[in-house]
Amino acid sequence: MRLLIVSNRLPVALSKENGKYTMAKSAGGLVSGLSDYLNSLGNDTSEIKDYIWMGWPGTNIEKNEEEEVRRQVQQSHKASPVFLSKKLMDNVYLGFCNRTIWPLFHYFPNYARFDLEYWHDYKRMNEIFRDELLKEIQKDDIIWIHDYHLMLLPAMLREKVSNPIGFFLHIPFPSYELYRMLHKESRLQILNGLLGADLIGFHTHDYTVHFLKSVLRIVGKENHMGKISMPDHTVEVNTFPMGIDFNKFHTMDVSPHPSVKPDRGKPKIVLSVDRLDYSKGIVNRLKGFELFLEKNPEWHGKVCMHMIVVPSRTGVGSYRKIKSQLDELVGQINGNFGNMSWMPVIYQYTSLPHKELIAQYRMSHVALLTPLRDGMNLVAKEYVASLTDQKGVLIISEFAGAAKEMSESLVINPNNIDEIADAIAEALRLPMKDQVRGNRIMQKRLKRYDVTKWATDFVDMLLKNSRISRDSVSRKLLSPKIQDELFDSYQKAVSRIIIVNYDGTLVPYTRYPASAEPSGELLSLLRDLETQEKTDIVIISGRGKEELEEWFGDLPLNLTAEHGSWIREAANRVWRLLKPLSSEWKEEVVPILETYTDRLPGSYVQEREYSVAWHYHKSDIEQASQLVKEVNDHLLSITTNISAHVIHGSKVIEVSNSGINKGELAMHWLSRKQYDFILAIGAGWSDELLFQTMPEHAWPVKVGLSQTSARYVVKKQSDAIALLDRLRAGTGK
Ligand code: UDP
Repeated sequence: MRLLIVSNRLPVALSKENGKYTMAKSAGGLVSGLSDYLNSLGNDTSEIKDYIWMGWPGTNIEKNEEEEVRRQVQQSHKASPVFLSKKLMDNVYLGFCNRTIWPLFHYFPNYARFDLEYWHDYKRMNEIFRDELLKEIQKDDIIWIHDYHLMLLPAMLREKVSNPIGFFLHIPFPSYELYRMLHKESRLQILNGLLGADLIGFHTHDYTVHFLKSVLRIVGKENHMGKISMPDHTVEVNTFPMGIDFNKFHTMDVSPHPSVKPDRGKPKIVLSVDRLDYSKGIVNRLKGFELFLEKNPEWHGKVCMHMIVVPSRTGVGSYRKIKSQLDELVGQINGNFGNMSWMPVIYQYTSLPHKELIAQYRMSHVALLTPLRDGMNLVAKEYVASLTDQKGVLIISEFAGAAKEMSESLVINPNNIDEIADAIAEALRLPMKDQVRGNRIMQKRLKRYDVTKWATDFVDMLLKNSRISRDSVSRKLLSPKIQDELFDSYQKAVSRIIIVNYDGTLVPYTRYPASAEPSGELLSLLRDLETQEKTDIVIISGRGKEELEEWFGDLPLNLTAEHGSWIREAANRVWRLLKPLSSEWKEEVVPILETYTDRLPGSYVQEREYSVAWHYHKSDIEQASQLVKEVNDHLLSITTNISAHVIHGSKVIEVSNSGINKGELAMHWLSRKQYDFILAIGAGWSDELLFQTMPEHAWPVKVGLSQTSARYVVKKQSDAIALLDRLRAGTGK
């Protein structure tokens, strides 16, 4: 079994010099973090024996050189390149990724551009990745897709392959109010794209909750303990805070670089490390340091800020603007406070190799990390892990994912410059024993939940979930072979009955139930089946008899309305009660439902002779899903003493007479005649009783892959129609 890692960029970047390609290892957190885990594959007890990494190789590759490049990177880095033109990659990376998603997901809507052309390029790139992956994927592979560049890919792949698919987002998932600012088409397609995965991971619980809320409000799908039922699989959404390679940072020998904290008498070091990005709050940090110097003249000459800024996205205008702002501020602070023997801010605009960076971490008395938003912030974890003497203080923004796991540090709000200034003063004063105590606790945690554990947890959960979901599906799926058997038994039968539910089975669920009338095609399908000799058709529905009569009145069908309170036999086409019923309980139930209707705008009560329905499909879905449990509990508490029972359907709660359900109804039809072929198809919760009362030789079939007592399932409503169509055609195909 192989693990297929998919990310925008390969762990190796190619460039062309003097007509020859050279390879350089990418320094990204994911690459260095995962390398330990990936190298361990095949040596341990894990079922995964090997891996391959797919992504863009970092440059345009000439068509005639593609195969040679593929061979080289495969051999040297277990990488499989996705060849894309640099132009498309630039358009996507500097367009939708970094001008739309990045600012929006980091709570900078003012920087976000909503250009439709960006979106089309983004879709195109995801499609190219899909096509390349399809060439690479083997039957047993597990696919793990990374980050915001490839959010459409999970669903695109699911349409084509049945391998387990995981997705991890390395940046924040914003609150619904921010997310909904995306163009209508893209905000829906991105969520649906992600929902193609079996497992979706985020760094923090907040991001997970934000995602689930957007899914609820935009896709209309509820979750149960983070699990979302899709037509053909279950998606789990969960939190996996990414760790670091603790041992590497803790034990690396960094010589010949100095790594000991400067002697007493020399300025103490406050370290700042980030990529140049507006989300990192570097300007606020400098302003905070400036204010600290203003407020604490006794520290002049005794403290120095080492600021490492890694160049990033130099092609985006907003990044260039921050760069000049930083240059100006550093000059201003050094000019206002510094002198010949002391420079308050030492500023390096470069990327340091890890050895040098770790030396810097160990030398620093304080790490000052103040992002305004950051998915995780690995630097914070790396700083604490690197402190072999456990001496040093981390100041971390509460808006960085890492802050959730580092509560022993000084957690600050970076929007408040005063708070930054005061935290620096506090950190410099913090007694050594408190520093050691805090760092010891955090190091223990970082060591336990390191990057290997993070990756193992994710992949294990992905494997477990996809197996459960695939097993339960494949065990019950009405495969072509079982369909042949069903068809055979239909053909041979002397007397047959098809009991079929209406909403969700004969017609798809719709937002507005009144608009779900049968098409001409459906009516002729039912007519043809009914007129086949020996076949009885029964339509069972929770709908009222007037509606069914209007739609099917002219057809010689058996109909049942209000979940079985009313029946109409094909022979005489007269509606009658299945058994004597009472409607007195409605006096108690209707006022209760009306109270809830007042509380939930858009909901309404539909009263029928022997049943009452409370619909909420027009209401705010989030408000409704909170209230529905209360309504259900309330109704259940009163209906235990009266002759009524509660059924929860699709965006509707219905109350009807006890003893009236689809199970009882099925018994009625089956007791009239001896049938040697019985097909019962349903989609909703109320159909479960129908399935449960079916005799051994019947074919109970559920539409949709949620938990069911039916023996067989089909994936979607159109599959149910296709099955009926096959019976009508009578050809067996
Ligand atoms: N980094 C580096 N050299 C530097 C500065 C940073 O290699 O000079 C690495 C650092 O070790 C960390 C990553 O860059 O692993 C930055 O990750 P983080 O999550 O802090 O921020 P991101 O850049 O992903 O937003």
